Parts: sequence; C-alpha cells; structure tokens
Amino acid sequence: MTIDTPPQDLTLPNDQESSGRTLGTEEIALVQEAIESGTLTSTKGSFTKTLEKEFAARLGVHAAYAASSGTAAIHCAIAAIDPEPGDEIVTTSITDMGALSPILYQGAIPVFADVDPATCNLTADAIERVLSPKTRAILVTHLFGNPCAMGPIMELANARGIPVIEDCAQAFEAEVDGRKVGTIGALGCFSLQQGKHVTTGEGGIVVSNDPELARRAFLFINKAWGYGDKNPDHYFLALNYRLSELQGAVALAQMEKLDGGVAQRVEMANRLTSKLTDLPGVATPQVAPGAKHTYWRYALTVDGNAVPGGSVALGAGLRERGIACAPRYIQKPAFACQVFTQQRTFGNSRFPFTLARPEAVDYDPANFPGTFRGLEEILVLPWNERFEEQHVDFLASAVRTAVNKLQEAS
Ligand SMILES: *Cc1c(COP(=O)(O)O)cnc(C)c1O
Repeated sequence: MTIDTPPQDLTLPNDQESSGRTLGTEEIALVQEAIESGTLTSTKGSFTKTLEKEFAARLGVHAAYAASSGTAAIHCAIAAIDPEPGDEIVTTSITDMGALSPILYQGAIPVFADVDPATCNLTADAIERVLSPKTRAILVTHLFGNPCAMGPIMELANARGIPVIEDCAQAFEAEVDGRKVGTIGALGCFSLQQGKHVTTGEGGIVVSNDPELARRAFLFINKAWGYGDKNPDHYFLALNYRLSELQGAVALAQMEKLDGGVAQRVEMANRLTSKLTDLPGVATPQVAPGAKHTYWRYALTVDGNAVPGGSVALGAGLRERGIACAPRYIQKPAFACQVFTQQRTFGNSRFPFTLARPEAVDYDPANFPGTFRGLEEILVLPWNERFEEQHVDFLASAVRTAVNKLQEAS
C-alpha cells in the first residue's frame, strides 16, 4: 500500500499582478507605438477606435464604445435610456457598486429584485414581482461569468416594452443559446478593470445594436459633443468618460488573448467541477442548458447542514492553505450599504430617493430570501486564465481536505 502524501501547497496565479495576467511584449509594443505617435487622446488617435471596431465585430453589434471604467460604461447605458428623475431601474443587489451608483447619478431609483440562491443571478419571476409603472429599464448582472436566464427575462421585458441592460463586466464571451451576452438586451456593458477577463487596469466598453442608444452612449462619453457633426454642440448634460490611447493600445493587444484566456478558464473550471461533483454538501456552479459560463470566478455553494460552519468555515480552511477565497462574496447585499440605508447622495438632499415610492426602497430582508441564502452559501474561489492543471488539482484536494476536516470535527 502506498501512503498518501498530502499534496504540496501551491501559490496560485494572482490576477492582481503578473502571475495571473497575460500582459507582455504585445502590450508593450502597442503602448510604445502609441507613445511614439505623440497622440494619447482617443479623439485623435487610432488605438481606441480600432479597439471599438474590433469589439463591435467580435460581438456582431452595431457599435461598441470604450469608456474609462466599467462603471462609466454602465453610466453611459443608463444615460442612453435617459430615465426621468424618480424612474425605476430593476436590478440585483449582488453586484458591484459600479453597476448601481450610475443609476442614482442619473436621478433614477435602483429597485432590487431577489436572486436565485443557486447562481445569485436575477430571475424573470423575481423581476416581475417588483415591476411598476415607473420601471424604465432592467439591469441584469451575469455574475461570475454565468449568464442569467435571458430567455424568460427578455420575454417579460419585451412584453412590457422595457429595455434590458446587460452588465457583462464579469462575463466576456459568455453565451445563452449561442448568443453572446451583451448582445441580447438593448445595451451591454463590460469592464477592463485589473481583475477582469481583459484588462487595461481601468477601462470599460458599452455596446448596442440600437443606433440611437449607441449614439447617446457615444455622446455621453464625450461631454455630449457632436464630433463629426456639421454644427456640433454640447447637446445635453454629460461627462468625459474617454479611455486614453495608452489604455486603448493595451486593450487592443489584450483582445488577441481573450479567446485563449476564456478557453483556459472554461477548461480548468470543467476539470475542477469533475473533481468536486461527488463531494457532499458542496455544489459546483450551476450552468443552465444552452448557457456558456466563462468563469471570471469559480463559485461554490456550500450547504451549512452538510459542512459544519458552512462557507465561512470552509473558506477559513482554504485560507490556511494560502488560497485567497471569498466566503459570502460581497458580504452583504448592496442595499445594506450606507448609500442605500442612509440615502447618502447629494449634500443632505437624499435625491433621488426623495422621489421614490416607499415599496421601491423597502429593503426588508423578508423580500430577499434568495439573496441572503445565496450570500450565506457562496464561496468564491480565485480564478484566472493562468490557472493550469496543477493549480486546479491543488484546489480540488484542498477543498476535499477542508470539507473532511470540518465533518470529522463535528
Ligand atoms: C467590475 C464590475 C463593475 C464595475 O467596473 P469598474 O471597471 O470597476 O468600474 C460593474 N459591474 C460588475 C458586475 C463588475 O464586476
């Protein structure tokens, strides 16, 4: 008989520095070209414009426009919809604050729908329960790269004539029934932040198939100045949300690596899933039939009845092995943050909350069973395109060992 030696602890590739990223000579070469050209603004240079054309072609959409962050891209999408003050945007509270603050900046009210605890994604049923005559848009987040069930969501939205915005910050190249996310709703938003599938440190992209919405998004990035128009003017209130040529050059080089990076993320995720499927008390990501999950992160669901201490205890066990995982993901629903609980917005005005229907800002936990359960059970593992078999095998064995330890101790 052989004696099992515990597998050696490995340092996992980390997407906050070079070990977990694919930044290299290609990015350096294009940045050098940008610098040598002496043109660093995207209004005059060609890198960001080329990036926009390539990204639009990749998605097969009418237009893509680069913005200075994912938050800016979302702000552009909301501004393109142009809600009246006090209008409601139905969305999720398990997301990045960058998907929510732009709603308030445009004078609209984020109205939270509950999520499916298995995926932490919005569902059509939950959205339907919070629709009102003031609903002006639905903003869905494809969390961790796992697409929302867009079929029923689009059916509901189309029946009511409500535009859908897709937050694809975590979901580059994810698909639903062969359609890429970001192209299913009226507008799609992407982030190029440090840890996303494609990075320029900070950056974003907004896409649309609707020429009018795309035009408004473009203008919103550019202080609403009508570049290229006969008699340009500042047509409406807007900001400068442009990406620079330096970032455009990096993004352009990164785009060449996106398909390979996604393939690696998916292949390694499938490997981890196959190694953990039989582990009682721990559920691997639930991907709907016809959906393609592109694994920004790999999220486990931990059943506290089967694994004593649940996701927090399991996470602590993994952290002992040097695995930087995140039990509970964002810790609390977004509506439990001070901006919502205390309505801290512009001075002491509380605007736009002053215009909200009481039901729209009722954050009673009883309305959000899926949200609280989802956060309690979720354990987010680190993940990036530099993960290889050895890293996955180490992760799988660390999860098994930690689960066994917790079960034996109880
Ligand atoms: C990262 C992220 C954003 C915001 O993007 P930034 O580039 O950080 O501004 C928005 N939504 C989701 C789901 C994200 O993950």
